[in-house]
Amino acid sequence: MLRAIVFFTDSPAQTRVTVFDTTLRDGEQTPGVSFTFEQKLEIARQLSSLGVYTIEAGFPASSQGERETVKAIAALGLDSFVCGLARSTTGDVDTCLDCGVDMVHVFIPTSEVQRVHTIKKSPEEVLRITGDVVAYVRDHCDLCMFSAMDATRTDPDYLIQVLQSAAGAGATILNIPDTVGVFSPSAMRRLISRIISEVNCPVDVHCHNDFGLAVANTVTAVEAGASQVQVTVNGLGERAGNADISQTVMILESIYGIRTGIRTDLLYETSRLISRYSGIAVPPIQPVIGDNAFSHESGIHSHGVIACAATFEPGIMTPEMVGHRRKLTLGKHVGRHAVRQMLSDAHLSPSDDQLDRIVEKVKFISTKGKKVTDADLYEIAGSEMGMVNGLRAIKLEDIAIMTGNHVIPTATVKALVEGREIVSSSTGNGPVDAALKAILGALPAHVQLKEFNIEAISGGSDAIGHVNIAIEDDQGRVISASGSGDDIVLASVEAMINAINLLQRLSRPGKV
Ligand code: MN
Repeated sequence: MLRAIVFFTDSPAQTRVTVFDTTLRDGEQTPGVSFTFEQKLEIARQLSSLGVYTIEAGFPASSQGERETVKAIAALGLDSFVCGLARSTTGDVDTCLDCGVDMVHVFIPTSEVQRVHTIKKSPEEVLRITGDVVAYVRDHCDLCMFSAMDATRTDPDYLIQVLQSAAGAGATILNIPDTVGVFSPSAMRRLISRIISEVNCPVDVHCHNDFGLAVANTVTAVEAGASQVQVTVNGLGERAGNADISQTVMILESIYGIRTGIRTDLLYETSRLISRYSGIAVPPIQPVIGDNAFSHESGIHSHGVIACAATFEPGIMTPEMVGHRRKLTLGKHVGRHAVRQMLSDAHLSPSDDQLDRIVEKVKFISTKGKKVTDADLYEIAGSEMGMVNGLRAIKLEDIAIMTGNHVIPTATVKALVEGREIVSSSTGNGPVDAALKAILGALPAHVQLKEFNIEAISGGSDAIGHVNIAIEDDQGRVISASGSGDDIVLASVEAMINAINLLQRLSRPGKV
């Protein structure tokens, strides 16, 4: 691992910042996202294991359900502090305090546009309310965060007065939100530096991503002296979202050399948990935790990475550090080194001529626009190397699926598993889910589904469906395979059977 932190940035003064996560509050305000009560509790536990300093659990005054959730999270006894959001009224603050939170986060709009059009208060009234509400919180609670909503579009002289009033009344931390994401890093540096020199209180920032600058503005605020960052998992949040936790944390840890208290090796699994519960997929090219973040396809890059990973990766950030994995992928840019490495992982050593022909075929299939799966590679290698198929781990004999609007989708499979006939049934969210679970249930070893996607090759309702899946065994080996057909359930089953058989063959050296 490279340790040349000084090459990449001027060193900020701090050696440590804390992380305030608002996935459960601002993140849930993402259009279309709604977490269930149980999901919120699980997310809160995960954020606490991750090492988040403070979890914003919700906005108790917004609904009865929200109150119950915040109360339940506060009662979990997590390592993280639990915070609730409140408008600047004693009613909202009381509702928040009733939930048993460690911290109350009060906010009031300070920009002219929001002051005039939302709360309809004069600058003097906002100043007075700020002092009163912060003092009220501090009478009842040790921790009070004060937010000057829309701070970045507020007259800076007036903003300083408001913040001084909050600090004077006992606020324990001041939040500077870039509520509509309009700030630039240089403006952020100027504003945060001024606040730190004129107001005696720790500062935190909450940046929105309307122009794609949320993370840049957040880390620049830290350079200027901010001591806490507000983030969400996968950058969820209103409109274009907030600063992403994985990117923000890894920039601070790896480039700046600042400790965040985050267990970075849990970032990947945390991202996948939130992706599943929010229904918002992580794009493959997402930094740090996207599928491609440590994937290599081109010949030159794969060759370099096989020799030394830091050649074509940051080096100061490795897949292990974030709980991710490095992947060499097959495609039209693939080179001999990557193919040789992938085959050697499966105990196959083709001759140079055989390798050339295998690489040619992989490139040929890729240029047709088809994704080349691991199963395809081993199939090609098997035929080029003149090997016969080994014993199949699983051979499907029969499958029956029941689905409809009044039944729970159920699948029953009859299969020969390592030569023995096994019957396995499972229910699922839909027929595909039930079928795949029934197959996995028939296996002696633990195998789990890692990825599933389906695409229609032609347009109509009789379109051919193409299913790509990836499965993982208990040794962390990941195998991709595909299946196609006009019945998407059967295509999915075919893909799963292909993947399982491949996994089996890989664990038997010498057999393809
Ligand atoms: Mn926000």
